[in-house]
Amino acid sequence: MRGTTVKTEAIVLRSIRYGEADRILHLYSSTRGRIGAIAKGARKPKSRFGGRLEPFFRLDLILHEGRSDLMTVTSATTVEGYPQLRSSGAALTAGARACDSVLRLLDSAEPNPPAYNLLCRYLALLDDPTETRAAALETALVFRLKLALAAGFTPELASCAHCGEADHLSGFSGAAGGVVCSSCEAGSFSLEEEAHRFMVEALARPLSDAPDAEPKALRQVERAVNETLEHHAHVQLRAAA
Ligand SMILES: [Zn+2]
Repeated sequence: MRGTTVKTEAIVLRSIRYGEADRILHLYSSTRGRIGAIAKGARKPKSRFGGRLEPFFRLDLILHEGRSDLMTVTSATTVEGYPQLRSSGAALTAGARACDSVLRLLDSAEPNPPAYNLLCRYLALLDDPTETRAAALETALVFRLKLALAAGFTPELASCAHCGEADHLSGFSGAAGGVVCSSCEAGSFSLEEEAHRFMVEALARPLSDAPDAEPKALRQVERAVNETLEHHAHVQLRAAA
């Protein structure tokens, strides 16, 4: 076969049945960013890939890169299967939303190690039965904020995104890309201090240590992140929980 051999680690974001016995995989890799690949014969009963070409699997892959847009999976071994995650409905839903966010926000073939490591950490948290808040909305929003940071779309939180004023920050504007002061609040929505604090703390803390906030503040955080990504990354994310 002509072409080149690519070795990389990757997470399966989506796995689609294709043709008689194949699978098309959407992968997020540590060294090549997004990869589309085909695994031929993956659905045959005695496939050498076993059941590991399913969403959330973290794999060591050998791929063949030819002239097609899709690489061909030559070999796949499991780095992490996250079996506990698969036995919890809440963790499965949270993991699926995280993979969907990566799918929508990070579509380039450029490696992004912070984004890759963040996704691996989140899946590991969801797989850990002692991490009781892993599947909670708070942690999902911390993941989303850190993913926005890794993708280069962090909301401005320190001063008014429009005029630079440091005080009277009472609103959030997706178009301006951050918090706005009372003089610049046209087109913004009202952001409580608790929601503002949540975002600042979320970016400063590890994923496993999500700040607490009331549901109303969390809804404002979700809206702030989503509107920032709509305006600046031109992507729409699904509801965080
Ligand atoms: Zn302002």
